[in-house]
Parts: sequence; C-alpha cells; structure tokens
Amino acid sequence: MDTLLAGYRRFRAGSWQQQRQRYEALADQGQQPQALVLGCIDSRADPGMIFDAVPGQMITVRNVANLVPPYAPDIASHGTSAALEFAVRVLQVPQIVVLGHGLCGGVRVLLEGAPAEARDFVAPWMSIAASVRERVLQASPVETRQQRAEQEVVKLSLANLMTFPWVAERVAAGSLRLHGAWFAIRSGVLLLLQADGSFQPVT
Ligand SMILES: [Zn+2]
Repeated sequence: MDTLLAGYRRFRAGSWQQQRQRYEALADQGQQPQALVLGCIDSRADPGMIFDAVPGQMITVRNVANLVPPYAPDIASHGTSAALEFAVRVLQVPQIVVLGHGLCGGVRVLLEGAPAEARDFVAPWMSIAASVRERVLQASPVETRQQRAEQEVVKLSLANLMTFPWVAERVAAGSLRLHGAWFAIRSGVLLLLQADGSFQPVT
C-alpha cells in the first residue's frame, strides 16, 4: 500500500495540479468521453497509458482477455455488458476500441486449459472464446498460436459487440465505430486491425 500511496501523492502534486481545471470542468459539466476502450486486466497493457489519455477522454473497461460476451439480457451479473450499455446508450460514445495484447494469461488459459486456481470463474469466462481455441489449435503452428489467438479474440469481441442490438443500430447509422487493436508488451508497438483482417503497426 505504501507504494500506491506514494504514487497518489505524486499524482496529487503533479498531474492532478496540471489538470486541475480539466477535473473541475468535468465535475461541473459531466463527462463526454470520445471512446470506450475494452482492454485486458493485464497490468502491462493499461489503455490509459498506451493512449496517453487525459481525464474524461475515454471510458475504460477491463476484464480477463478483453472479451465481449454475447448479448444476453438475463438475471446473471453482466459487468462488461452493463459497462457497454452505460457507455453506448447513456453516454453515447462514438467509438469502441477492443484492445488485445501479447503474452495474455487469459488467452493462455484458453489454449492450454485452466490451472486449478482459475477454474471457478476464469475458465468459464474464457469459454466465450471456445471457437477461437478450436480454430487456432487446428490451423496455426505452435509458435504462432498464442499471438494468433490473442488477435482472434479481438475479432470475436468485435463480432459479439454486434450482437448487442443498440450497438448494431448505431454502427448501421454511422454514429458508432468499432475498432480492433493489439499491443505488443515487449516492444510497446500498437497494431490496428485492418479491413482485410490483418493487424498492422500504427505509424
Ligand atoms: Zn490479457
């Protein structure tokens, strides 16, 4: 906790002071974020750092392996879907970015199976991407499976986003755009999903 509080003191004396007016304006006028970024919980792939975001700029949702579950309005506890609804329907964000990353532990569980400590929730959560697992295990050589699966999970999340009727409506109307991206932890390079299905580095 000491390390966290030391960081808070640096924030309070540094970046909060620099952005004080922005915080005050956001408090008075409310937020109008320009994007929702759905990333992984991985501590090395923080969307706010990668996009060098300022307060109020983007909604960040993070879960294991940046997965969007299919639209399923039932009594289960849908944390990610609730965040999507809030951002899309209430705040009306004009863009959603699904941000995958390299060395993803969730994707490793998907490909290699869950260790005993990750079977209560992680394994069933990752089963959202079971189709990715089948495809990648059948079609990709062992060396490229992990990265291929990480990028396929981004595409699956984008496809699942379109199962939410209020996402599909807005995409069709042109008021919401969906993007895919993948971040390489070691090199710090961001790749963007292209129309042809490939991921290419941002120049
Ligand atoms: Zn991850």
